[in-house]
Amino acid sequence: MNKPVQSQTADRWLRQISREAGRQLAAIRDLSCSPAALEPFAKALEQVFVANDLQPLLASGGATRPVIGVYCILVPEELIYAAGAIPLRLCGGCSTSCAVGEEHVPRDGCPLAKSSLGLTARPGLAVYDLCDVVIVPTTCDAKRKFAEELSRFREVWMLEAPHLKDSEISQQAWLLQVMALREQLERYMSQVQGKRVRITARSLDQAIKEQAAAQRQMRRLQTLRAQESSPVWGRQAMLVANAFSFMEVTAWTRAMVEFNNELEQRQGQTVCPIRTPRILIAGSPVIFPNFKLPNLIEELGAMVVADESCVGERALYDPVGHPERNLRAQLLALAARYLMPCICPSFAPNEDRLVTLRRMITTHRIDGVVYHVLKGCVVYDFEVGRVEAALKELQVPVVRLETDYSPEDVEQLRTRIEAFVEMLVQRNRPPNSSRT
Ligand code: SF4
Ligand code: SF4
Repeated sequence: MNKPVQSQTADRWLRQISREAGRQLAAIRDLSCSPAALEPFAKALEQVFVANDLQPLLASGGATRPVIGVYCILVPEELIYAAGAIPLRLCGGCSTSCAVGEEHVPRDGCPLAKSSLGLTARPGLAVYDLCDVVIVPTTCDAKRKFAEELSRFREVWMLEAPHLKDSEISQQAWLLQVMALREQLERYMSQVQGKRVRITARSLDQAIKEQAAAQRQMRRLQTLRAQESSPVWGRQAMLVANAFSFMEVTAWTRAMVEFNNELEQRQGQTVCPIRTPRILIAGSPVIFPNFKLPNLIEELGAMVVADESCVGERALYDPVGHPERNLRAQLLALAARYLMPCICPSFAPNEDRLVTLRRMITTHRIDGVVYHVLKGCVVYDFEVGRVEAALKELQVPVVRLETDYSPEDVEQLRTRIEAFVEMLVQRNRPPNSSRT
């Protein structure tokens, strides 16, 4: 059974994490026209990082179900729900924990791996301490070696992720991985619950439907953000997406219905002037509380209207197709859903990502793309040239910004983003308008 939820000793380390997250939450709550329905999401992140008390979150999902940590969107979360547990997405975004992570991850390794390892290696943060078992897909090199290091602290189940999506051998191998995960979850949960636990067609059907309901709400939000008048700040939408990592799916969906309803009632209202440059953030994931890039973009006069991050829209875009309530058919559909539409650059070839980006540019009327490269994230950096070439055809400028979680490069980033936004403002200016 997972360890009981306890309030942790407020040592310096936890205070630093709490301050880092608290500052970011305050900045987002203080934005003009903040929707009242943002609060459940902000509260969830506050409980995780500031109060360090998960009990209200887990209880809101119904009783005290065991939790299982996951480290990538390739993990089929429906299986975890169908087994009676709650998945928590543990990819780390705290700068505070990177120093501890560096004891296990090479200096030039990606900050996501450093932060995640730091948060696990040093006990204290309940959300990490609670997960006795974590699932890590072997996507990029960093994730594979991270999983190996992590196994010094937790029971790690590696999910062997293919790198070629279109090969039949890869698809078969992935299906076997998904089937093996089902069996592993059943064994683990039987042990934890002290009775035989089975994932049935019925429990999986319900989990698929619950996840599909969450996806529908995410699509609703995307449609609202695509409007010419932006009803919500990009940072607020990104906070909502990040809260999904720590909220039970039905609780998140309920909160999303309210959030989208409130935004829909604001039809025609906008949080920024029309003609504000519309930005898409592409590249490495932006993970709370490291909102350095969206903060700067919006403080400097542009609006983040879309992000292709795997801790954002991408995580909740494609539903599982499962017309039959038959376990094998469901597992096939689940395996296909988690592999085929995934545009993580750990896959090659990855032309689908360019198709998705082109679509987002059109639907969200994007003026410019900020391409986020986390230092050490080779896979995303490899694809920057292809993305630039594809977007050049659409006459959409791209700026590549390499950064990590530390606040040290903020001024340097500010200068580059300021110049990029100014260039977009000039492009958006109607002809014959006076230039200052
Ligand atoms: S970037 Fe790719 S490998 Fe990393 S968490 Fe996202 S989907 Fe997984
Ligand atoms: S894909 Fe990039 S950000 Fe994600 S774990 Fe790998 S190196 Fe880190």
